Amino acid sequence: MKEVILCKYGEIILKGANRATFESSLVKELRRRASPLGTFKIYFRQSTIYIEPQDDFSDMDAMYDTARHVFGIVGVTRCAVCEKNMDSILETVRAYLPEKLEGKRTFKVEAKRSDKRFPLKSPEISAEVGGVILSMVRGIRVDVHNPEVTVGVEVRDEHAYVRAAQESGAGGLPIRSAGRGLLLLSGGIDSPVAGCMMAKRGMEIEAVHFDSFPYTSERALEKVMTLAEEMCEFCSRIHVHTISLTHIQEAIRDNCDEDYFTLLLRVFMMRLAERCAREYNCQALVTGESLGQVASQTLKAISVTDSVVDIPVFRPCIGLDKNEIVTYARYYGTFETSILPFEDCCTVFTPRHPKTQPKREGVMAELEKLPVEELLEEAYATLRTTTKRIFPEYR
Ligand code: ATP
Ligand code: MG
Repeated sequence: MKEVILCKYGEIILKGANRATFESSLVKELRRRASPLGTFKIYFRQSTIYIEPQDDFSDMDAMYDTARHVFGIVGVTRCAVCEKNMDSILETVRAYLPEKLEGKRTFKVEAKRSDKRFPLKSPEISAEVGGVILSMVRGIRVDVHNPEVTVGVEVRDEHAYVRAAQESGAGGLPIRSAGRGLLLLSGGIDSPVAGCMMAKRGMEIEAVHFDSFPYTSERALEKVMTLAEEMCEFCSRIHVHTISLTHIQEAIRDNCDEDYFTLLLRVFMMRLAERCAREYNCQALVTGESLGQVASQTLKAISVTDSVVDIPVFRPCIGLDKNEIVTYARYYGTFETSILPFEDCCTVFTPRHPKTQPKREGVMAELEKLPVEELLEEAYATLRTTTKRIFPEYR
């Protein structure tokens, strides 16, 4: 029996003239992800992407799994393909479904014909298929409101498809369809989530991480690299730039009012990130800030850090509570790594009484005590780039 994977896409259908571009970028992304998994034919037709294995060695489980993590796809299903007539559909139901319905207590059938010339209407198809299932699976009964399994039958242009389940996809828009953003990636819970949220809206994500050797350790950096790698399950590929803040932090510690330490550090981070964004063609910065979460994330503090750069700054977590961000982190697969206990440059030389209602003039006056441009230049010269990919051959 021939089995295929069908992917449904959502919002793209509304894209009018640009729709074809979105569709082909989805297909391209699926082809890239399919390459180490076997030989698949992947194409779109009737608002659906078809993924057809070309031999018995192609890994359908892995293909299904990766398709669920491709932004732009709202539903993924595995189904058996058959001829467009009732005999063939019922024969497929008998051969394909018993194993999938074993032990289940309730089901319903959803039939759909996009080919309106098919002689039976959808409710008639459902009734026939339902009858076969009832006679074939012991103890199962129909529950149209809250079924354990929804069996699907779709009669499309060329073939009919029978499935036992449909799962939701990652949603959003295809990767690389909405420009490129530079994520300020720390080792925390929030910033990986922020990156994935923007990637979901089609943004290609590049990252910058600031370390502070020897105050932060090699293992703290490794943790960030692991996070970037984990994000690749959804973001596919991330160039990670690292920049050392050690001298900047020492200069702040030695010359400035302690209450301003964190804010000053954030000013330097934003300036360096802006420069990095310009060099690597990123059109926006992305941070994991959430309003009021810590002293440096009050409205006043954010206004100050925003005012030192001239590039859009996206903060997709801004209105989320921590527990909501944690739910996302679990979904994106970064949570367990994020909670490993390593230090971040923000946690060295932390002020005892950080300013929560800073005035821009106050911050600027502290900055005057430092050779800002020189420090920025020196720090930027430490930039190093590593690339993380969903698998080594991903291009
Ligand atoms: P996260 O959980 O993302 O670390 P947080 O709640 O710890 O966030 P902060 O430490 O104040 O908050 O950092 C706010 C944002 O600044 C982070 O979400 C991240 O975007 C950026 N940031 C913080 N530290 C670093 C760093 N070492 N390198 C790069 N970006 C950083
Ligand atoms: Mg942090």
